[in-house]
Amino acid sequence: MSEKKGIAILGSTGSIGTQALEVLEAYPNYFDLQVITANRNADLLIEQALKHKPNSVVIVDKDSYKKVKDALWSEDIHVYGGEEALSQVVESIEVHTVLTALVGYAGLKPTIAAINAKKEIALANKETLVVAGELITSLAKEKGVNIYPVDSEHSAIFQCIVGEFHNQIEKIYLTASGGPFRGFSQEELLKVSKEQALKHPNWSMGAKITIDSATLMNKGLEVIEAKWLFNLKPEQIDVIVHPQSIVHSIVQFEDGSMKAQMGLPDMKLPIQFALTYPDRFKTDFPRFNFMDYPELTFEQPNREVFKNLDLAFYAMENAGTTACVLNATNEIAVDAFLNDKISFSEISMLNNDVVKAAKIITKPVYEDYVSADYTARQSALKLIQ
Ligand code: NAD
Ligand code: MG
Repeated sequence: MSEKKGIAILGSTGSIGTQALEVLEAYPNYFDLQVITANRNADLLIEQALKHKPNSVVIVDKDSYKKVKDALWSEDIHVYGGEEALSQVVESIEVHTVLTALVGYAGLKPTIAAINAKKEIALANKETLVVAGELITSLAKEKGVNIYPVDSEHSAIFQCIVGEFHNQIEKIYLTASGGPFRGFSQEELLKVSKEQALKHPNWSMGAKITIDSATLMNKGLEVIEAKWLFNLKPEQIDVIVHPQSIVHSIVQFEDGSMKAQMGLPDMKLPIQFALTYPDRFKTDFPRFNFMDYPELTFEQPNREVFKNLDLAFYAMENAGTTACVLNATNEIAVDAFLNDKISFSEISMLNNDVVKAAKIITKPVYEDYVSADYTARQSALKLIQ
């Protein structure tokens, strides 16, 4: 095995994936790119492979396999097609850390494979912990695998507790920008368009998480993600709206002291910290200037208007497969909204209707998550029609 840290990036063609490649490129003596993968974007995957020369690439969409294979035939790069390949490439002996930068439920299976193969996890794919947090965290513990958060809020919490692992967390505050519809009434939300929902005020991200940010589902999913990452009880997690997205989150310890992590909104920093922990590498990222932000403000989220947030707390408290059902329904709902089949307000209505009607399995094993995900998707699709 090489001296450098072998990295597999699942979802290299996405927002997190492309930024992760920039991070790796900046430290060629430290990182060794082993694997990149994409769902359907063959052109970008080919371009990335030719530029970064990984050991293996996976294109999940089997129809695009030949295109990728042909484009890379003269390179010393293994090309695989299909979903199962994701779980196989992460097992390579040369891979040290797997960055899960793919979106949605699809992250669950390869993450389990990576943990079973004792790979460190840099976790961007929050849906994996939402769907099966109990299974993932207990498997990681059993295998002695660390899960380093990439999500900016969770990276912030992690950065605040480095050196404090023996001290109890009293509570955490996850900050939320409030999204493009902060301050909107229920009536105003009825009229918002897809274009408006896709315009996040502070972050440029993939479509699914951008819509989740607008409905506050993203913050709800992050609450559940935080519970599993930091072993917290629901009452220890609070959400505070901070429109400037400078304070990335806050930890309150048992003596009342609060630590916050701050910086300009730029995902490259949390991506890099997850890959270089415990070290911090020097960067030339733009620095924060207080005079550009003379006011940092905080306000309560409007839980009456943005119902997904309370629904996430409900799912967390109800436990079992509830959050898995919520995630599956939300994936269907966001997809339907992006395809003009339902309105913005109907996303949280659909989530509520499917979650509250679902039969919940209280002590799920892997197969229960698979069937809860499938059943929830069917129920959601039926309600949409
Ligand atoms: P994105 O849509 O930009 O990219 C998704 C990537 O996953 C692409 O490479 C795509 O090819 C791949 N992919 C999509 N569906 C797949 C499937 N079914 N099977 C295999 N691969 C698939 O998404 P993103 O914004 O980069 O977000 C990725 C993850 O990171 C999400 O879980 C998101 O919540 C989380 N996250 C993103 C940001 C951000 O700034 N973008 C911040 C925090 C957390
Ligand atoms: Mg986040």
